[in-house]
Amino acid sequence: MYRIQKLKVEKKAIILAHNYQRPEIQDIADFVGDSLELSLYATQTDAKIIVFCGVNFMAETASILNPDKTVLIPDVNALCPMASMLPADLVRLYRRKYPKAKVVLYINSLAEAKAHCDAVCTSANAAEVVSRVDSELILFGPDANLARYAQVKSNKEIIPIPQYSFCPVHKLFNKSDVIRLKREHRDAMVLAHPECDPSVWEVADFVGSTSRMYREVLISKADKFIIATEKGLLHRLKKDRGDAVFIPAYDEAICVNMRLHTLEKVYLCLRDEKYKIKLPPKITSMAREPIEFMLKIRETQK
Ligand code: SF4
Repeated sequence: MYRIQKLKVEKKAIILAHNYQRPEIQDIADFVGDSLELSLYATQTDAKIIVFCGVNFMAETASILNPDKTVLIPDVNALCPMASMLPADLVRLYRRKYPKAKVVLYINSLAEAKAHCDAVCTSANAAEVVSRVDSELILFGPDANLARYAQVKSNKEIIPIPQYSFCPVHKLFNKSDVIRLKREHRDAMVLAHPECDPSVWEVADFVGSTSRMYREVLISKADKFIIATEKGLLHRLKKDRGDAVFIPAYDEAICVNMRLHTLEKVYLCLRDEKYKIKLPPKITSMAREPIEFMLKIRETQK
């Protein structure tokens, strides 16, 4: 850990970690957060090197927003299977099929796909972004559950693209497990991520992104929480609400892709300045506009 801190100072680097990272990676990071918070942090840092401990689409977003900075990812195989369910060709195909619709893509999508959309959103702001897009008909991908969530919250007509895409980790949660846990822990508050099936939202007390779940736990008077999202978030919650008990709604809800990063890989990444995120300039400039659309909404809400 000391060697990582030393290299970080020498190279004017920062380490950003997603809420789903291994505990030891979260502990050495300069900032831990969800996709939206990490994208914003990346635009505000004056570091020369950003080491991004998350999956590839997150590091790509940091690179798109910071074309003059070096963005590194410790393990180049950290890919998101859900993002891969929506290749750019499929976005173009849906655009041709629904010429009057606007396309909103979850930040959990490939840079090439983002290059063909009108706006990007995260699970923290999906409804706000959909509401601000200038069309009543929205093609939304690649998470079909988040598409439904945005539809409920925005009242716009939303077509999920593709129709049945999903996060394999959030697919593990189910209503009957949550009901059983609620019976066992009657005083617990249930928090669920919108990537879970809508039947899980029905039995949750709160539905929101990891950043919103985190804030809800900090302000809540409850001292027991059932958490329906990737288990990595529990580390941060336990650190900042040491008085509370946290129960995972599914014990094996672990994103193996996020967990590919290790301390050793972070050290090697900094030492050898590998693996650099490199995107074609055309993709960078095309994808930047829909990401900035989302960031501007955030600006106007301040
Ligand atoms: S938790 Fe799901 S959406 Fe997030 S990176 Fe893993 S597979 Fe992708």
